Amino acid sequence: MSKIAVIGGGAAGMMAAIRALEKGHQVTLFEKNEKLGKKLYITGKGRCNVTNACEADVFFTHMNGNAKFLYSSFYAFDNQAVQDYIQKAGCPLKVERGNRVFPVSDHSSDVIKALRQRLEKLGCEILYKSEIKELLAEDMPCEADEFLSEDNSKDNGKYKKSKKKKGYEKFVTGVKTGDGKKHFFDSVIVATGGISYPVTGSTGDGYKFGRKLGLDIVEPVPSLVPFETKEIWAHSLQGLALKNVTATLFADGKKVFSQMGELLFTHFGISGPLILTASSELARKKAQDVKVILDLKPAIDAAQFDKRLIREFEENHKKQVKNIMPGIYPARLGEVILELAGIDGERPAYTVTKPERETLVRLTKELPLTITGTRGFDEAIITCGGIALKEVNPSTMECKTVKGLYFAGEVLDLDAHTGGYNLQIAWSTGYLAGDSV
Ligand SMILES: Cc1cc2nc3c(=O)[nH]c(=O)nc-3n(C[C@H](O)[C@H](O)[C@H](O)COP(=O)(O)OP(=O)(O)OC[C@H]3O[C@@H](n4cnc5c(N)ncnc54)[C@H](O)[C@@H]3O)c2cc1C
Repeated sequence: MSKIAVIGGGAAGMMAAIRALEKGHQVTLFEKNEKLGKKLYITGKGRCNVTNACEADVFFTHMNGNAKFLYSSFYAFDNQAVQDYIQKAGCPLKVERGNRVFPVSDHSSDVIKALRQRLEKLGCEILYKSEIKELLAEDMPCEADEFLSEDNSKDNGKYKKSKKKKGYEKFVTGVKTGDGKKHFFDSVIVATGGISYPVTGSTGDGYKFGRKLGLDIVEPVPSLVPFETKEIWAHSLQGLALKNVTATLFADGKKVFSQMGELLFTHFGISGPLILTASSELARKKAQDVKVILDLKPAIDAAQFDKRLIREFEENHKKQVKNIMPGIYPARLGEVILELAGIDGERPAYTVTKPERETLVRLTKELPLTITGTRGFDEAIITCGGIALKEVNPSTMECKTVKGLYFAGEVLDLDAHTGGYNLQIAWSTGYLAGDSV
């Protein structure tokens, strides 16, 4: 039996602690908040989209790069295993549209309760309001030895052996709390989350720990986050939700995303599930020039839409154009399109010229928006970036250069689309870290 410290009582930390306890270790869980799972509580709009019940190969396509790193942990504790585990712990689950898994009760608090009870039953020492300020590590002499290191040149997930010279190796020895006290452990699992929604306690502490130990950190950027637009007309549509539109995202002239879905106009630009997903495709690109082109009528092509306009204008030829728009576009969008096309809405429909109609078609099928930036970490569902994956052994979650130190969850440079994938990353990596200590 070893003495294990887990830093962070979120999804990854709780799962890591549970698994380490099940393996017979003595575990102390340090959580800076007064309760466990503060972020988990607000997930899925308070319903907690626990995971996604899709096939494994589909799951990996929802990762934003770095999917290979997750293979070992995912197969050690996959989306089915997570569902089985949470249900067995006392929280029944259901699968909804898009394979999204939620508690039957629709309350995220029931997921947290089930995990907390499991931790308590297994005898976990949970220290609330206990913020870790520093990791303790020491250089210790080591013998020449064989060890495993990742063969980055191969894609097949295999590892090759390499020789280690006699010398010194860094070992984690414990943690230091806010009151300055040192606590000594055999292993430490860092599950401090990312830096998004910092009010939940995820304030990027894991990056500080990593940096201090000389680990490489991939610059954290907000992801699954709304876009700010240059165009003021978009701000004026605040509150308008469009259900079936296509957004195509261009980064420095290159198309990086195109999908149909739901978009929401806000006082600063655009949001909604479609835009959040688009943002995650942008997060890893350092693009200067970012544009979104909206197709407001993706079900029909430009020629078909033009025919519709001709029909509407002919049937209502004496009507003012502004009074025809509500039949074609939702709410205030028609007014905006007319304004962008430079057409006075007071004019009767029969006065609209062919070039003017063509402009309406173009604006409907290819409505351009200039993206000036994303919203900040306060509004980002996830952090893209974090502890560089090259620093961590994907088969164990142990740091390659600091023995006994493990990372799990969002603190790692791993992120995915919305739909339960990000929590699955936390469950899988947490489980594997707890299993490996
Ligand atoms: C609004 C919102 C909705 C979301 N909805 C979903 C969803 O439905 N499905 C989904 O899959 N994903 C969702 N996510 C993403 C998901 O919540 C995260 O990916 C996941 O919670 C990460 O888990 P974690 O355990 O790694 O980190 P966190 O949940 O962030 O937990 C980290 C914990 O560590 C603690 N901590 C940090 N530093 C210290 C320290 N120094 N000492 C002690 N404790 C510390 C924090 O207080 C926190 O409790 C959502 C995110 C947000 C913001």
